Amino acid sequence: MTKHPTPASETSAPLATPFDDLGVAVSPGEPLAHHTWLGVGGSAAYFFEPVDVEALARVVARCRERAIPLRVVGGGSNVLVPAGGYPGMVVRLSAAPFCAIAVQETICQAGAGAKLVHVVSAAVQAGLAGLEMLVDVPGTIGGAVVGNAGGHGGDIGQRVRDVTVMLGDGTVEVRDRSRLAFESRWSNLDDCIVIACRLELDPDDAGLLTKRMQKQWILGRGTQPSGTRTVAMMFKDPLGTTAEALISQAGGRELRSGEATVYPPHANFLVAGPRCTSDDVRSLVEMVRDRVRQRLGVELTPLIQVW
Ligand SMILES: Cc1cc2nc3c(=O)[nH]c(=O)nc-3n(C[C@H](O)[C@H](O)[C@H](O)COP(=O)(O)OP(=O)(O)OC[C@H]3O[C@@H](n4cnc5c(N)ncnc54)[C@H](O)[C@@H]3O)c2cc1C
Repeated sequence: MTKHPTPASETSAPLATPFDDLGVAVSPGEPLAHHTWLGVGGSAAYFFEPVDVEALARVVARCRERAIPLRVVGGGSNVLVPAGGYPGMVVRLSAAPFCAIAVQETICQAGAGAKLVHVVSAAVQAGLAGLEMLVDVPGTIGGAVVGNAGGHGGDIGQRVRDVTVMLGDGTVEVRDRSRLAFESRWSNLDDCIVIACRLELDPDDAGLLTKRMQKQWILGRGTQPSGTRTVAMMFKDPLGTTAEALISQAGGRELRSGEATVYPPHANFLVAGPRCTSDDVRSLVEMVRDRVRQRLGVELTPLIQVW
């Protein structure tokens, strides 16, 4: 009997990637929508969840050698992926070595992939104050430090003692406070991958801190859109006021673009409907910004990062 060769399209051989010789599992064409809160957008050319720092270093160095752009996704609560996806490597620090949390005396050390809420709880349980006001901010500690997350009770940058980062060639260094700069929802950690950080906190009564944290959690839950995770915070708060107040004053509560709508009870949030696209989100952010500029003469700065 004649044997027919199997057509190439029916073989199960994985697609070749520039990382195949590194002994790591890189996924080509990973859809990014389910790695972000908004749940919209296309795929990453390559996606990688390293098991440890050495594996990450190999991939980071290869990306530099081949001029492949690289981004880290944390909790994906502040990222908008375009419809065309991301034409490079997206790394997610989800493995155990990147998510450890340890508290010693007044220092809380956390891997960048640890959820911020878990870091806040660990600090509070250990009787350490300074992070409670961040309990309702979604995402990872890495994302929080890079974007200097915070609110009216303060920013995380105030508490950062040092940060362990990986550079583009795969080397690791520790940057202490003197080399770090934090401003409103900004840090100078835009040239590296944050791997871990150490936060300096104040001793306090664990029972009182727990109450304060619970109060902040309830307050946060009360203002954030409920019943859906497909939301984003649109703008930074300008000095001396809030983006929410300005959007409301400018009559922006009713604005929508396709399936993206402003969340009327708290107008600095945008909610993405089931068939929402990245373009809907982008144009709603622009629409709200234009409205505030035209009616109040104030230029809002977007918080959400478009990849
Ligand atoms: C409901 C809701 C409420 C929010 N409330 C607040 C609030 O009160 N205050 C506030 O400040 N923000 C708030 N945000 C915005 C957002 O949650 C924060 O900016 C958060 O800190 C982002 O963390 P993340 O891990 O989700 O980062 P991601 O969204 O995954 O990433 C954000 C940016 O940081 C980069 N990044 C992430 N991790 C790393 C890393 N390890 N190394 C290098 N770069 C990295 C990414 O590449 C990306 O550019 C809110 C968002 C939502 C949806």
